[in-house]
Amino acid sequence: MSRGITEEAARTAILRYSTTPPDKSQLEKITEILRRRFDDDSINIELTNDPSLSGGFVIKYKNFEYDWSDSGRADQLEQGLIISHDSFLRPHNKEENIISILKGRIEEFELLAEAKEIGTVIDIGDGIATIRDVGDVYYGEIVIFEDGTRGMVLDIQEKSVGVILFGDQRGIRAGSHVVRMNREAGISVGEDYLGRVVDVLGAPLDGGANIRPVDYYPIEQPAPGIAERQSVCEPMETGILSIDTMFPIGRGQRELIIGDRQTGKTSIALDTIINQHDTGVVCIYVAIGQKASTVAQLVNTLKSHDAMRYTTVIAAMASDPASLQYIAPYAGTAMAEYYMHRGQHALIIYDDLSKHAVAYRSLSLLLGRPPGREAYPGDIFYLHSRLLERSAKLSDELGGGSITALPIVETQAGDVSAYIPTNVISITDGQIFLESDLFFEGMRPAVNVGLSVSRVGSKAQAEAIRKSSGSIRIDLAQYREMAVFTQFSSDLDESTKHQLAHGQVLMGLLKQRLGRPMPMADQAITLIVANAGLLDETDKDEIKLIQRRMLNWFHHRQEKICLELRQEKYLPDRLRAEIIEAAKEYLASPDAADEKLDKMPY
Ligand code: ATP
Ligand code: MG
Repeated sequence: MSRGITEEAARTAILRYSTTPPDKSQLEKITEILRRRFDDDSINIELTNDPSLSGGFVIKYKNFEYDWSDSGRADQLEQGLIISHDSFLRPHNKEENIISILKGRIEEFELLAEAKEIGTVIDIGDGIATIRDVGDVYYGEIVIFEDGTRGMVLDIQEKSVGVILFGDQRGIRAGSHVVRMNREAGISVGEDYLGRVVDVLGAPLDGGANIRPVDYYPIEQPAPGIAERQSVCEPMETGILSIDTMFPIGRGQRELIIGDRQTGKTSIALDTIINQHDTGVVCIYVAIGQKASTVAQLVNTLKSHDAMRYTTVIAAMASDPASLQYIAPYAGTAMAEYYMHRGQHALIIYDDLSKHAVAYRSLSLLLGRPPGREAYPGDIFYLHSRLLERSAKLSDELGGGSITALPIVETQAGDVSAYIPTNVISITDGQIFLESDLFFEGMRPAVNVGLSVSRVGSKAQAEAIRKSSGSIRIDLAQYREMAVFTQFSSDLDESTKHQLAHGQVLMGLLKQRLGRPMPMADQAITLIVANAGLLDETDKDEIKLIQRRMLNWFHHRQEKICLELRQEKYLPDRLRAEIIEAAKEYLASPDAADEKLDKMPY
């Protein structure tokens, strides 16, 4: 640090003053404080006049600076006042600080002698600053540049430190000062964030009122250990028939939603949020690198279903710096952890991790790290695994809270063997694979039954659904295969014809419109009726209509059955028989039964 400077000069502190220099006794006192602070009796003070200061004085010793000028004190006072609204700066003793600043006497100097450690920018560009002499900063620490821009330390070299900037870099030049904050990056949390759209630092983007946080969570936290967890045991119902029956998700699970662009990935996540309206699950939607208009549309959809009430949207848009996109999922997880630690259940959606990986890749390349496969840095796997490991179901002793994660990954032309998709597939507890061919065939949601899987959720699946879903997955897989083989043949035997008809009915039933989550009881009735083969004779274009009418009829005419399913979530054989009997009764004369019903709400 003091290369090229003589020993003595290295031990001299420079005191700059504007008009009146400190008198002899003040100078002695300051020297005394400095000597004590740095445990070095040979420190001397050299005075220089600096008319640019606005009264008071500034002392610089090595890379420490004590700003006791009028403007410096005013800044500190301002910081002290606004500090509580600041997600990065949490005051330890705000009132005391302000009082001592106000008194502003030399004697108080020591109280405030929380010297700022000052570094110098040696290189700036592309949202990355390289700084020098900033003391022993640690990885993930926040630093503030002299124009107020914040940054986070992401790269520590022997002689310099790489910092990613969270704001505009135009006010920063080579030679600018940087102050280390001794604080790791974090986000304020609290219930006030529900219903809001915020940026990754927790500042509102929706033009609403100020948010009153109750706590501050670092964005990087170790994942809960083995002893702190329990296995997944409660369902996280998506309300989407094809997912809840075949690939059930449990609270605390991580289920990947993967597919090409425009295959309905976001829609699945949104429907899942909408379905949480009466479950008490808090939802956090993290938008990474998306267009602002897409996010605005999504917020509107959530609002129109009254789902913003229990949802926070954290957005790092496509136009935001890569640094903000990089920390977005961590900030979202920190917010979800707040609820999990309080014993609540949170659902977090990362939309999407492909863009997150791209943001991290550009940061890494700019930081000069070597590119690996597909030019991603070597730690990209660790980056996502340490993020997703933070989703957990906590043990009962720790309150039993949970974070369920639905990361989204975009594939190119259905290629799941690309780097990021394989990584995230191996980290998560299963994936829902959406296929564009199915999507364009009109099979929406376009869930590919063969390639999707859920590894832990079936333990948490409602008994009624597990019992009623039967062999639906196998039936569908066989149907898909058979449909390809029999495409061009006209002479089919009876059992093949029957299998095809049954498969078509199932495919029809699994189609679902947007924003119409299906309650568990309706799912169970649909499955039981379909698996009993009662719908196999139906015209496949009419199947959706018949399903809706029948469920509506059940709601109005078979309230007892619906109530029992809803309350017990259990399916004794007696109930199954009752449902089949009732369905037969309805299907015998569907139109007659319909006449008496009100317009379908469902
Ligand atoms: P992107 O790759 O752009 O993020 P995505 O995979 O997230 O796209 P969505 O935005 O969810 O896809 O959906 C794409 C389009 O498909 C939307 O216009 C949406 O309305 C429509 N869509 C999705 N699911 C369904 C569905 N079940 N029924 C009808 N339309 C649907
Ligand atoms: Mg999307």
